[in-house]
Amino acid sequence: MEDLLRRSEKLTTVGRLAAGVAHEIRNPLTTLRGFLQMQQSMKMVNEMHTDIMLSELDRINLIVSEFLILAKPQAVHFEVKDVRFTLGDVISLLDSEAHLHNIEFQVYFSQAPILIHCEENQLKQVFINVLKNAMEAMPSGGMIKLLVEEEDRQAVIRVIDQGEGISKERLKKLGEPFYTNKEKGTGLGLMVSQRIIEVHKGLLEFESELGKGTIVTVTLPKVTAVIKSDDVLTEGA
Ligand code: ADP
Ligand code: MG
Repeated sequence: MEDLLRRSEKLTTVGRLAAGVAHEIRNPLTTLRGFLQMQQSMKMVNEMHTDIMLSELDRINLIVSEFLILAKPQAVHFEVKDVRFTLGDVISLLDSEAHLHNIEFQVYFSQAPILIHCEENQLKQVFINVLKNAMEAMPSGGMIKLLVEEEDRQAVIRVIDQGEGISKERLKKLGEPFYTNKEKGTGLGLMVSQRIIEVHKGLLEFESELGKGTIVTVTLPKVTAVIKSDDVLTEGA
């Protein structure tokens, strides 16, 4: 009975999500179709139209890619990694983009290794999402602090920005699909990140003050566990 109930609740969530995706994808598709039709009937498509078509195609691509990440956690392959290096890789990846926007990363990493069990590519995806959000919140540049340390035998990763901040009402809505305040946002990054961190038995938390900035904290279990098979975590050892 309870199972059935939970199952139907899940189906409603999936249904809502599907409706959302359909809606989000239909809008750019309608634009694309309109311009193609103009081209066919009146040979009237100019460079501006092609630019719009390309950016609408990019948007569809982005939405679909974010959903693909979400679809994957089923077949996770956990490995032991030093999370300092996982985050370090992501920082290198985003460094030139940050530079371009006058953003400087300040890194405060633990001297000692911080080992965790993770599906590294997915975890990188979370860090990319969180770092990009921090960068996007600082349009005129500034500093982003990155901390990796051990607290209470947990791995704690903090991303601290000096961006626009998030109001109390908006804070409650984070992680809802399609919740965005950006013209080119999908509002899917945090939902996907939340899901990935959940699969890692961790926590994704936000503290923020309007006009001052945001602290995103990712907490993950530190390695004190053995892997029995690809995706089964057993406490102990
Ligand atoms: P998107 O980045 O496509 O908008 P996300 O799911 O990544 O979608 O984020 C949802 C919303 O959360 C953003 O549109 C923004 O309003 C808010 N947000 C997330 N991180 C930050 C941050 N560091 N500073 C300010 N706002 C943030
Ligand atoms: Mg984002």
